[in-house]
Amino acid sequence: LQAAPRRPIRELPDELVSQIAAGEVVERPASVVRELVDNALDAGAEQVTVRLVAGGVRAIVVEDDGCGIPHDELPLALKRHATSKISSLAELEGVMTMGFRGEALAAIASVSETHIVSRPADASQARRLDARSGELQPAARAQGTSIEVRELFFSTPARRKFLKSGPTELSHAIEAVRRHALARPDVGFAIWHDGKLVEQWRRALHEQRMADVLGEDFVAQSRPVELLAGPMRLQGRVGLPEAARNRADHQYVYVNGRYVRDKLITHALRSAYEDVLHGQKQPAYVLFLDIDPTRVDVNVHPTKIEVRFRESGEVYSVVKRAVEKTLSAPAGAHLPAAIS
Ligand code: ADP
Ligand code: MG
Repeated sequence: LQAAPRRPIRELPDELVSQIAAGEVVERPASVVRELVDNALDAGAEQVTVRLVAGGVRAIVVEDDGCGIPHDELPLALKRHATSKISSLAELEGVMTMGFRGEALAAIASVSETHIVSRPADASQARRLDARSGELQPAARAQGTSIEVRELFFSTPARRKFLKSGPTELSHAIEAVRRHALARPDVGFAIWHDGKLVEQWRRALHEQRMADVLGEDFVAQSRPVELLAGPMRLQGRVGLPEAARNRADHQYVYVNGRYVRDKLITHALRSAYEDVLHGQKQPAYVLFLDIDPTRVDVNVHPTKIEVRFRESGEVYSVVKRAVEKTLSAPAGAHLPAAIS
C-alpha cells in the first residue's frame, strides 16, 4: 500500500466533531432516552414522559415539567461543551448532577432531526428551536421542556444499519427508563409507544417503586440493606438466593444516584453470594451507594457508566460485608445490617 500524500492539518468543522463524539455517546435510541431523561431529572422534573415511535428509531420525545431553558440560551443548549451544570474544575470534582459534559444534545442533534421546545417559569410563552436551521418560533407548552429527536442516524446510514428491530430497540429504551425510575421514586414516569401507554410509574416510596418496576416478587423475595460506613452509605434490597434467576436482568447498582456497571461492586456482590448461590443462577439486587462525590471520579467514560473510586478496597469490603450480613441474618429477621 502506498501512503496517501500528506495533507495539511486542519481543524474539523464543529458538526463533524459532534458526529464523531456522537459515536461514543449515542449508540441506539436507548442512549438518547437515557441522556434526555438525565437532563429532565437535572432540571428538577417531577413528571417525565417518554414517547417513542417505532422503538425510538423514527422518533423519541422526552417531555418534562422541570425548570425549562431561558429562550436566549436555547441555541447554547445545542453547543458542544456548553453546560449550565459546572463552571470549574472544583465543581467537576463535586458534581452531583447527571450531566456535566455539555455534549449530549450537541451529539444527538448532529445525528438526528432535533427540536427543543421549552418554557421557563418566568416566560409567558414557549419557544421551539429547530436544531438544524437554528430557527426559533413561538410554541405552546406548560412550564418545562420537550426534546424531540427524529430519524436517528438519518445522516449516517452505516450507523443506522446497526439498529435492531423496533421491539428490540423499544425494550432497550424501556430498560433505560427503568434504570432511572428505580433511582427516582419521587418522579413519575410514563412511556408511550406508537401512541399507546406501555409503562407508567407513579410517584411512590422507594419500596413501592421497586415493586412497580421489578414486580411484587422482587420485594417479597429480597431483604433490605442499610449500612453507614464513614463517607459511604449503602442501601437498597438484595434478592434471596432461593429467588435467584437464570438471567442477570434484575441487577441494578447506583453510585450517587447514577446507574453504573462497576466491576469492583459486581465482584464484591458475586463474592458475597458465593457461598449461598449455586450454579449459574443470578441474584437480583438494587443497590444505591452514596459516597462523598470527591471520592469518586465519574468522568471516566463518555456515557458515565463506569466510575473510579478513590478508596476502592474500602468500597469493595463495605459492599461485600453488608450483603453477606444481610443474607446470613436468620429468616424473618428483616433487620437492616448494622454498622460494624
Ligand atoms: P449536560 O447535561 O452535560 O449539561 P446536555 O448537552 O445534555 O449537557 O445539555 C446542555 C444544557 O442544556 C444543559 O446543561 C441544560 O442547561 C440544558 N438542558 C438540556 N435539557 C434540558 C431540560 N430537559 N430542561 C432544562 N434544561 C435542559
Ligand atoms: Mg445532559
